[in-house]
Amino acid sequence: MGFILNEMQSSNPQMNAEKYSSNYKMRNTPCSSSNKLRTYKADLHVHTVLSPCADLLMTPGNIIKRALASGLDIIAITDHNSAENVEVTMELAKDTPLHVIPGMEVESSEEVHLLCLFNRVDDLLKWQEIVYNSLPDLKNDEDYFGYQLLTDLNDEYAARVDRLLAVATGMTVEEIVDKVTKMGGLVIPSHIDRPYNSIITNLGFIPPKLKFPLLEVYKGTNPQDLIKRFPFLKGYSFIKDSDSHYLDDLEPMMEFRIKKVSLEEILLAAREKDGRGIILKQVKR
Ligand SMILES: [Zn+2]
Ligand SMILES: [Zn+2]
Repeated sequence: MGFILNEMQSSNPQMNAEKYSSNYKMRNTPCSSSNKLRTYKADLHVHTVLSPCADLLMTPGNIIKRALASGLDIIAITDHNSAENVEVTMELAKDTPLHVIPGMEVESSEEVHLLCLFNRVDDLLKWQEIVYNSLPDLKNDEDYFGYQLLTDLNDEYAARVDRLLAVATGMTVEEIVDKVTKMGGLVIPSHIDRPYNSIITNLGFIPPKLKFPLLEVYKGTNPQDLIKRFPFLKGYSFIKDSDSHYLDDLEPMMEFRIKKVSLEEILLAAREKDGRGIILKQVKR
């Protein structure tokens, strides 16, 4: 893999300009165990260099640095059908104030994108095995789709993933919700109002029996406008993420008012339980 790194460094001298630095403040409060409500700026949809469509500067170290600089307290790493850069991101963020939620953006057999989030990385890695077994056995064409890169604790490119990741798995939306929920994870349909790879576009509706506690809307969308277009969305709770593929995309689009960082607290926020809540950034039109 050394040659890839050298090739990329030489072809793009700015490549390593934003490398991870360990000069972050240490966690100063045990906020994860506090019983008081606190506001966290959050982005639950971030791609790394493992996603072929992501920019080559989207290394975990660069993402952590930029996320902190933009004021984020929580990010979820959600690469396409893979979680192989999650552990390294969590390790690099360990001594920073940034919370990293282990996740993945899975593509169903209907080509619907779904964020799958877990409290524990071990559960996510078990889920990854299921996803890998469900992916078609195709090789990535780097020239066509882009690089799928793993990084190490020095935030350098360490390996490439050869199998094609950005493709539909063999699991239906319903199967994904069923399996992930049983494993203790949370499924949130991605960018539901996008004209492709979205549950509304691809299925035409949201199966009520799947009981999604949260739906992700596109950055520029006001959920109230969307409900006018799609009245069946009434009663749902919404999140808004950056779906970052470039460092410049990383900016907080929402805040959680919760007691600690966990999926359970986020679910309570979706129900506005005991003062908790989700505040979406308003986008001017
Ligand atoms: Zn997507
Ligand atoms: Zn995405």
